[in-house]
Amino acid sequence: MNLHEYQSKNRFAEFGIPIPHGKVATTPQEAYEIARELDGPVVVKSQVLVGGRGKAGGIKLAATPAEAEQRANEILGMKIKGLTVQKVLIDPASKIQTEIYLGITNDRAAGKPVFMASSEGGVEIEQIAHEKPEAIIRQHIDLFLGLRDYQARNLASGINLPREHWKAFIKIANALFRCFVESDATLAEINPLVITGDNQLLALDGKMILDDNGLFRHKDLAEMRDTSAEPEAETQARAAGISYVKLDGQIGCMVNGAGLAMTTMDMTKLYGGDLVGPANFLDIGGGAQADKVAAALRIILSDTNVKSVLFNIFGGITRGDEVARGILQALNEIKTNVPMIIRLNGTNAEEGRRIIDEAHLPNITSAATLTEAAQKAVEAAKGAL
Ligand code: GDP
Ligand code: MN
Repeated sequence: MNLHEYQSKNRFAEFGIPIPHGKVATTPQEAYEIARELDGPVVVKSQVLVGGRGKAGGIKLAATPAEAEQRANEILGMKIKGLTVQKVLIDPASKIQTEIYLGITNDRAAGKPVFMASSEGGVEIEQIAHEKPEAIIRQHIDLFLGLRDYQARNLASGINLPREHWKAFIKIANALFRCFVESDATLAEINPLVITGDNQLLALDGKMILDDNGLFRHKDLAEMRDTSAEPEAETQARAAGISYVKLDGQIGCMVNGAGLAMTTMDMTKLYGGDLVGPANFLDIGGGAQADKVAAALRIILSDTNVKSVLFNIFGGITRGDEVARGILQALNEIKTNVPMIIRLNGTNAEEGRRIIDEAHLPNITSAATLTEAAQKAVEAAKGAL
């Protein structure tokens, strides 16, 4: 789950990280009021769950409340990377001397969190990594020891931070680390962390990604989820208890079990080559009932890239006949000509196949093995390109 900038920064502030104290507006009039309260120049910042808002014109300075209202009017409703801006953050504007990057994420290869700092802040870390990789200083953290002082100092010296800021920097790095751990985050990033005109360190931008599997421990954070800012299909999948990740291929995959789902995606990629591939990861979980299958199919078909659907169900506690009824129930509601290839195996698979066969649907083919199913799904998708 992604947090908005204002949510991330408020969370940072709870751990003692200095942030500009602004407020969120949903209308230009509100922006005017907030700017008047702040009583000085402000920055109007679009709150959308993507980076690079600055470059996209989603961040503007305003000298007066009237100007803030005008900028908010321009930014609200704007589309940034496909997302519509529904909120703006009005922060007191800061004078910037230096922009620093400071972030922490999990390094899967190392099996540890890794702190990253760079003097090239303000641009996205991926871009720094690409253009000037030597400008990123890394420190891996032992979770049992936490961030050690010498590591924080290594970061500070690595980015050539003037000595006078080290104390504040080390405090911020420690706070960010605690915030990362105590939020069950997979990313906590300040970009830019700035040295202001009056020589203070200040977190101007914040980004946090939380591990969905840790959210049950953080009711307050879970409630921050902005469903209006995420793709409709993801909201639906969560409501139905389905694990769904949209990808950009053409073969919709409906599978029970995460490992089997990944194998299925690999197989469509193997036979699809450069032309077609998986449109999604989708795990309907164990013991899926008909209505859940129907919900999953609706989600898969809501993706207009999908040219064929591959069902790969290995019945253990999931029963083949239930899945078959779910597919028919869904197809009864959603009229579609998208070719579907079904591979049912395991518990009640024969009954499931019989139910499907007896429905005599022209766009449904069954397959005996995963290899056959993947090849047929690839053929069907290619045929529809
Ligand atoms: P992003 O583009 O989505 O990462 O949004 P940021 O919040 O990082 O803002 C992008 C850039 O806008 C920053 O790197 C700054 O250069 C600039 N910016 C943001 N807030 C202020 C501010 O208060 N004053 C000034 N002068 N520039 C700002
Ligand atoms: Mn930023």
